[in-house]
Amino acid sequence: MTSASAQGKTTRGKPSQGMSMRGKVALVTGATSGIGAATAEAVAGRGAYVLVAGRDAARGEAVVGAIRERGGRADFVGADLRDAQAVRRFARDAVERGGGRVDVLVNNAGIYPFGATADTEESLYDTVYALNVKAPFYLVAELAPGMADRGGGAIVNVSTMAAAIGFPGMALYGSSKAAVNLLTKAWAAEYGRQGVRVNAVQVGPTRTETTAQAEDSLRALAAQAPAQRPGTAAEVAASIVYLADDEESGFVQGAILPVDGGRAAV
Ligand code: NAP
Repeated sequence: MTSASAQGKTTRGKPSQGMSMRGKVALVTGATSGIGAATAEAVAGRGAYVLVAGRDAARGEAVVGAIRERGGRADFVGADLRDAQAVRRFARDAVERGGGRVDVLVNNAGIYPFGATADTEESLYDTVYALNVKAPFYLVAELAPGMADRGGGAIVNVSTMAAAIGFPGMALYGSSKAAVNLLTKAWAAEYGRQGVRVNAVQVGPTRTETTAQAEDSLRALAAQAPAQRPGTAAEVAASIVYLADDEESGFVQGAILPVDGGRAAV
């Protein structure tokens, strides 16, 4: 085997990864934990300056510290994203910290309380939709126009397999992420012609700080998929980074990528 691809290179002779996101400013929400923390570390590993977002400053600074220890660049930005005005202020703050730009937005912050529809309080309904739908909506409203003006950008939304399958107990959560799936396509149509790529990962059961507290449910859900195991935050992060990196997924727009151990296929 002597071809360039067999030697681990692209046909243009460039390495496929390395510091391919150097010079980019990336904002990762929910980066103080789980999939978001792994994504922040992976994006920083490709050379991007990463804004690590969440409410918990101690956990956020720990993620920033881990990134800096490996020679990466990151800062923590704190905000509760349930309120649209706070989201708008947070987005403007991120642009300022990014030196006038955010090139990559990962809409990862989310909550996933499960329970019967009949037992769901209105306050919980409002909280789930505020964080899972309204926050990404207004972050995109604030940040996508700047990306479009600059002629490029990447937005990755973190969705769930429960957005496409009717699981008992997941009506509220699944419906909020089904909205995110549609928003992914709508934004790809709205901003794609100006160079802004909008995609989503549709994630299956993944072991994180939160899901590890319900290990039995995590394993039971994972058992339904061909992979027969929960994913790791690093595995999901790798797929998010693929969609965020123009050098890898430059022709991918409006896609909803299952990262679920094969659950969507069976
Ligand atoms: P996690 O470990 O529970 O982390 C959630 C993150 O969201 C934390 O960084 C948290 O930060 C942030 N967050 C929560 N409430 C917030 C608020 N009001 N304002 C701002 N940030 C807030 O979650 P995960 O398991 O990694 O999941 C991450 C994403 O993947 C979610 O969107 C989830 O729906 C999706 N997903 C997860 C799985 C899974 O099995 N883990 C499967 C499918 C999809 P602070 O606590 O610092 O605020």
